[in-house]
Amino acid sequence: MRYSDDIIEEVRSRNDIVDVIGQYVHLQKKGAYYFGLCPFHNEKSGSFSVSGGNKQMFYCFGCGAGGSVITFLMKYDNLTFQEAVKQLADRAGIQLPDEDNSPAAKQMRDKKQVLLDINKEAAKYYYYQLRSPNGQKGMEYFRERKLSDETMQQFGLGYSNITSDDLVRHLRSKGYQDSQIIEAGLASHDEKFGTHDKFWNRVMFPIFDASQKVIGFGGRVMGDGKPKYLNSPETPIFDKSRNLFGLNLAKSSRAGYMILCEGYMDVIAMHQAGFNMAVASLGTAFTTGQAMILKRYTDEVILSYDSDEAGTKAALRGIGILKDTGIKGKVLDLRPHKDPDEFIKNEGKEAFEERIRNAESTFFFEVRIMQDRYDMSDPESKTEFYRELAKKLVEFEEAIERENYIEAVAARYNIPVEDLRSLVSSYAAKAGMVRPAQRPQSGIQKKSQPEDGAKKNQRLLLTWLTDEPAIFPKVTQWVTPEDFSDDLYRKVATEVFEGMAGSNFSPAAILDHFPDAEEHSLVAEMFNTNLVDIETREQRKKAFRDIIIGVRQAGYQRQKTLLKPDDPEFLTKTIQGKKELERLSHADISPDD
Ligand SMILES: [Zn+2]
Repeated sequence: MRYSDDIIEEVRSRNDIVDVIGQYVHLQKKGAYYFGLCPFHNEKSGSFSVSGGNKQMFYCFGCGAGGSVITFLMKYDNLTFQEAVKQLADRAGIQLPDEDNSPAAKQMRDKKQVLLDINKEAAKYYYYQLRSPNGQKGMEYFRERKLSDETMQQFGLGYSNITSDDLVRHLRSKGYQDSQIIEAGLASHDEKFGTHDKFWNRVMFPIFDASQKVIGFGGRVMGDGKPKYLNSPETPIFDKSRNLFGLNLAKSSRAGYMILCEGYMDVIAMHQAGFNMAVASLGTAFTTGQAMILKRYTDEVILSYDSDEAGTKAALRGIGILKDTGIKGKVLDLRPHKDPDEFIKNEGKEAFEERIRNAESTFFFEVRIMQDRYDMSDPESKTEFYRELAKKLVEFEEAIERENYIEAVAARYNIPVEDLRSLVSSYAAKAGMVRPAQRPQSGIQKKSQPEDGAKKNQRLLLTWLTDEPAIFPKVTQWVTPEDFSDDLYRKVATEVFEGMAGSNFSPAAILDHFPDAEEHSLVAEMFNTNLVDIETREQRKKAFRDIIIGVRQAGYQRQKTLLKPDDPEFLTKTIQGKKELERLSHADISPDD
């Protein structure tokens, strides 16, 4: 369903961006802007800005994320444009026109919505297959894993048949095209087999996003086929690095912490035993993006990885990511069992609760792993271990925390506390008490590209116009949208100039005309480029003059490139351009009267 521009504008104007974002991010007013910690990248200083008033935009000077109140919700809650509009309409009590379900309207719908619909339909199909005679093998598998009917229903578990194209046929019968089914990640196409199901002969685990929509699947093969686990590929609706299995349920848990485990079955077994705070990363290693999402719901994460070497490695990696994200981490010790599923089956719920209570701090976990490398019966090796221990203690930035750990470590490893303290002090002195180098973060970082001076002037002009529409008449004395050098800039400038001339200028509306994610953030940048500090009237005039001349120069360059050098017009234009720029250099260009 596409809503009209008028409706969208009403929704936007009745949801002030500062109020809406203020519900998710703690904002502080600084001058004309509000600032807070960016929810889209990990940072300690607030480079995330929100502008209310006429501008109605957010922009992060750290990672470049930017947009309107609608695109903020899309990004934050992983919603489609339509869903975000709907949510904001509800918030403001605006009645939206009814959804149209005719085939024609369906065609028009956002691509993402179609992919969501296909995944939902597939989940329903797999669900019924599991409960039909076809699904007997799958049902036996789940029964053997001791899953109750209620649990199977809660997780929407299903089964993909042994035939290789029945889902494709089913989806076709619902009116979907092969290309859409393939894009949804549920089918592949090749010469030999045509379009065929991606999943077959597998028990199916639908993957829900936080708002309970199916965005992909994991499938475990029945028997010994390869691969044992197969996941949906990344699609426009399925970003593995920003979703977690079980989060749709765990986000309502009141435990105060989350348990991060390795696999689908771990999460399901834990929920069945009443541990509804369990989530898992999706067939990939735990990512910074996932940690950022967990941070929205909790500040403590207990890692519950397999007790084997691979699990230990994964836990050590996870600890680093949690630290970088500012989440307090602990590690669950499941020995002698392999994983949570096996532990709960053998020891029961109470014993598992006990292990949660006794979960080890990440520091002691790391130390324990480190200790395995040393032979504690050899004095030299033992001394070396103590040295490493002291070096690790130096990493605590806060004196009190460091002191607490020194005492705890001394007690645990039977080292006189004074000796350990002086060893730590000597390493601290050597290190100059400098903070250990930060791990390179795998999160989103702003692409650093050599700054294009011409474009920067154009961005500065657009930002200035947005922040101070009163200068528009002064700008139009010198510049037209045709002066903007690249296509995207020209499109945006045209909309800005038209909007301002017609006095219905809404920068957020212009931004929302560019739905493509990459263009959207480029346009957001055009409206949010930092002017150097302007304090005096002279500085203001000089900045304005430099920008106007810079934009005009780029404009002449562009006009020249539209002509061939042997075109007589080329020479005329060149001479005109030179004269014009010469005239500009003497002209009185000012943003004020
Ligand atoms: Zn950011």
